[in-house]
Amino acid sequence: MQEKLSQLPKMDELLEDVAIVPWFEVFDRPYVKNYLNEALNQVRQAILAGEDVDISHSAVVAIAERKLTVKQRPNLRPVINATGTALHTNLGRALLSDKSVEATQRVNARYSNLEYNVEAGERGSRYAHIEDLLKELTGAEAALVVNNNAAAVMLLLTATTQGQEVLISRGELVEIGGSFRVPDVIESVGARLKEVGATNKTHLRDYERAITEETGALLRVHTSNYRVVGFSQVPDDKDLVALAHQHDLPAFNDLGSGLLIDLQPLGLPREPLVSEVVAAGYDVVSFSGDKLLGGPQAGILVGTKQYIDQLKRHPLLRALRVDKMTLAGLEATLQAYLKPEQAMKDIPLLQMLGQSEEKLARKAQTLADDIRALDKGYQVNIIEGQSQVGGGAFPEARLATHLVEISHPDYSESTLEQKLRQAEFPIIARTSDGKVQFDVRTLLEADSGKICQALVEMI
Ligand SMILES: *Cc1c(COP(=O)(O)O)cnc(C)c1O
Repeated sequence: MQEKLSQLPKMDELLEDVAIVPWFEVFDRPYVKNYLNEALNQVRQAILAGEDVDISHSAVVAIAERKLTVKQRPNLRPVINATGTALHTNLGRALLSDKSVEATQRVNARYSNLEYNVEAGERGSRYAHIEDLLKELTGAEAALVVNNNAAAVMLLLTATTQGQEVLISRGELVEIGGSFRVPDVIESVGARLKEVGATNKTHLRDYERAITEETGALLRVHTSNYRVVGFSQVPDDKDLVALAHQHDLPAFNDLGSGLLIDLQPLGLPREPLVSEVVAAGYDVVSFSGDKLLGGPQAGILVGTKQYIDQLKRHPLLRALRVDKMTLAGLEATLQAYLKPEQAMKDIPLLQMLGQSEEKLARKAQTLADDIRALDKGYQVNIIEGQSQVGGGAFPEARLATHLVEISHPDYSESTLEQKLRQAEFPIIARTSDGKVQFDVRTLLEADSGKICQALVEMI
C-alpha cells in the first residue's frame, strides 16, 4: 500500500501533461491544480481503502477531466419533459413561443426603449409597452405587470388594504405550493384576514355581515389548484362586486391562471376567462404570465385606472418590477392572442394541450420504432394514458394521451428512471408497474433522438 502511495503521479508532472494544456485556455492554473489535487486525493483514498485502483498518470488526469467537465456545464440547463404535464412547475412551467424567445433575445443584446419614449424624446414607462395589449385582450381600463402573481397580490394588498381587514371565503384560503399561502400573504403585508362563510359554502350574506368600518377589501381567490365539490356554493362574481361597491369597498380577484381563450374545445373543463372576470366588475384581477397564458414568469394586474394608478405609484413596485426580457417575451406572447387560432399554433403550451389523437399516436409510434431499432434489449410498448395540465391549473382534468413504455431485463424500473434522469441531457419520465413511461404530449421535435442516445449510453 505504501509503495502504491509513493508511486502516485507527482503534481509537477501532471501539470506538464499535454492532455492538460487545453484546460489552461478555460481555467486558471490554481483552479486546474485544485482539480488535479482532488483527483489525486480520490485515488489516494481508494488505495487506503484497499481498492485495486489504477494509479497511472492518465487515470488521474481522466478523473480530473471528468470533474472539470461537470464544472463547465451550466447547473441550470434544459431537460426533456416526458411526464406529459405541460405546465410542470419543477421543470420551468410554460415554454416560450419562438417569437417570444426572439423578442427576448432582441432586447437582451441591444439597447432598447425600455424607459424611453422615442416619439417624444423623453423618459417613458416600462409598463406602457404592453398596457394597451392587456387592455385590449382583457377589456380592462388599465394594466400593470410585475415579477409573478405572488408579487402582484402582495403589491395589490400592500397598496390598498394595509392595516385593514380583507374579507375572504373560508373555501378560498389557497396554498399554491412552496410557501405561498393566501392567508400568510395577507398577513405579511400588514392587512388582517377575516374569514367568512364555511369551507364548502359561503353566502353573500356572510360577506355582508362581516363588513365593518375596519374592512379594506373583498378578495376572491380562484381555487385554481383544487375544487370544493358536492354541497358547495359561493356567491356570483357580479353579486360579490355589487356588495363591495355598495359599501364603497373594492373587490379584487386573484385568478391564478390567466386564461385568455376558452379551452373547452380541447376537452378541458370550463374555467373563467380573464375578460369575463374583468367584465364582472372587479376593481383589480391578477394572474400569472407562465401558467395557462403560456408566457414568461410574470404577474399581471388588470383593472380600473383608479386602482392600477395607485399601484403604479406605490414604492413597492420598484422592488417587484419586471425586467426587459420578461416584457419582451410577454408582449410577443400576448400579440399571438390577437388571433386565437394563431395562439393555438404558436404558443407551445396551447399546442401541447391541443394535440390531436392522431398526432400523439404518430409521435408515440416514431419513438417506439426508434427505441426498438436501437436493438439494446429494451422491451417497448405503446399504451393509452392520461396527461395532467399541471401548474395548479385544471386540477381534475385528464387529457387522453399515448405513452411509450419501456423495460429492460437487466435493470429495474427505478434504475432506468434514475439513469435517464442522470443522462447528459436529463430525461424526466414517469414510472409504473415496472416500466418507465414517456408521455409523448410534452416531447419536442428533437427529443426522440436524445432519448435514444441516452438509452444507448446508459446500458
Ligand atoms: C399560481 C397562483 C398564484 C401564484 O402565482 P405565481 O405566478 O406562481 O407567483 C397565486 N394565486 C393563485 C390563485 C394561483 O393559482
